[in-house]
Amino acid sequence: MVRGVRFIVTVDQERCTGCGNCVKACLTGALQLINGKSKIVDERRCDGFGSCIAVCPNNAIRLELRDAEGFDWSVVNEIIFESLMKKLAMTSAPLK
Ligand code: SF4
Repeated sequence: MVRGVRFIVTVDQERCTGCGNCVKACLTGALQLINGKSKIVDERRCDGFGSCIAVCPNNAIRLELRDAEGFDWSVVNEIIFESLMKKLAMTSAPLK
């Protein structure tokens, strides 16, 4: 993968309460809960579209323009249509 400056998700660890919404909403599996906080486990999996941002109840996620590994488009092949539709529905549902 080619490194370069691009938009990538960043999680404010102070604001994150570990609800897991963003992990469920992430289409490409870039986020995981580690020790009760959401973190990017592989920046090559972050597409930078920010579907996770809409589901965070604590405004803990934002896009940051920084140097990062390029997005690995091969992960798109791992997306199963049914799970894609569920995740898209989640990001369009109102927050509780
Ligand atoms: S949705 Fe927000 S509060 Fe919930 S785990 Fe993700 S970053 Fe943390």
